[in-house]
Amino acid sequence: MKVLKFGGTSVGSVESLRNVKDIVESINGPAVVIVSALGGLTDQLIATARAAAANDPSYMDSMQSIRSRHLAIIDNVVPEIARQEVTDKVSGLLSDLERMYSGVYLIRHLPQMTLDIIVSFGERMSSVIVAAMIDGGSRHDSLGFIKTEKWYDKNIADQKLTTELIRQEFSRPFKYAVVPGFISTDINTGDITNLGRGGSDFTAALVAAALDAEVLEIWTDVDGFLSADPRIVSDAVLVPHMTFIESMELCSYGAKVIYPPTIYPVFHKNIPIRILNTFNPAAPGTLITDSQCDGDLKVKGISAIRDTSLFHIDGNISGKLKNTVSRTFNALAKKGVKVFNVSRNDARPGMSFAVAKGDADVTYDLLCREFAPELSKGTVSRPERIDNVATIAVVGENMRDNSRLGARIRHTLSRDGIRVEGYSEGASDTTMAYVVDADRLDNALRHIHTLVF
Ligand code: ASP
Ligand code: MG
Repeated sequence: MKVLKFGGTSVGSVESLRNVKDIVESINGPAVVIVSALGGLTDQLIATARAAAANDPSYMDSMQSIRSRHLAIIDNVVPEIARQEVTDKVSGLLSDLERMYSGVYLIRHLPQMTLDIIVSFGERMSSVIVAAMIDGGSRHDSLGFIKTEKWYDKNIADQKLTTELIRQEFSRPFKYAVVPGFISTDINTGDITNLGRGGSDFTAALVAAALDAEVLEIWTDVDGFLSADPRIVSDAVLVPHMTFIESMELCSYGAKVIYPPTIYPVFHKNIPIRILNTFNPAAPGTLITDSQCDGDLKVKGISAIRDTSLFHIDGNISGKLKNTVSRTFNALAKKGVKVFNVSRNDARPGMSFAVAKGDADVTYDLLCREFAPELSKGTVSRPERIDNVATIAVVGENMRDNSRLGARIRHTLSRDGIRVEGYSEGASDTTMAYVVDADRLDNALRHIHTLVF
């Protein structure tokens, strides 16, 4: 059995929905089809909620545009015999949504729980429409089987319970089961929650893993994984195949193709993922599996996080570097700060690493707190921090043994006057990382791409 996921742009217009219909109906069922909200809708639902909470009456115009967009799509894609019923269902949801907004407008307050209910309407409505549009489609409500548990202020999927509930839900025969992505309910309170922005991919992965799908197809608006962001590198090429780990690395370094947590459940079950283009369904896309294939490119891609900060801790820590590293990483991991490990280009003693710019202040405070005893004794100096740098990842096979490529990359960058503030070669099997001035990022990406591809 196949599991397919269609993102927002794929379900965002009449034309794209017609492609979705053709793609699904050409499968010899059964298949499970996970859908996002109509493209751009989740952002609009949030912005409208904020406007209402700020007592800005323009929320009503936005509500009106949400309503007319959905009703127009129904008129254009749902077969006539089902149209009235679908219009009634979606109109009911739209009225509920409007009532939520007027409540927020009156109390001028937007609690997280209320916002979670508001954003859930996107997928609840799109799934009703897609299920009715597809011949042989039936709607299966993920609020009943995707379960989360509160963990501090985050909602985390309860994978064990969710897996059982998915298996129950899909134990009865179906042809094309249409499921709203992203949304879920709390295991204790039953409140509506979600899996985080971009979470429809994760819904699809949970379903694919629970049902031992033969493949998870992620249908999007690009032909697959490209070797770099084509808006920056105009000659980026399609990468036909890569491993789970390579795709995970590229996405955690800023590639927007899939939502990184998606990979875990399917990786664990060794279910291949195929990235496909709803707007170019005949293209072969990118296949992601557990190991390298014959003819694979050595380097699979170059991605980057534009806004990072580089830290360096210096001082009398030689001989105790391991301890310093583990104390730093532990302190940061406890606060959920993701660390990109690098070394300084000037080979100074001590340790260096990069974090996302949004985590930089927290990181600085955590370092000062963690090393307070050493700081007061003067054995460690104040952490150094360089802002406005970007971290580039070059991802591929056997990067640990590819020191020649590393040297060539650094040479190319320095020849073009791009200073490498820090880099990491040999620390990971899959990734080499380079930290450069944020203003020089685009140039750096082009130079590295020309060298490697
Ligand atoms: N609609 C949600 C979002 O935009 C979930 C998704 O599309 O995956 O974040
Ligand atoms: Mg989306």
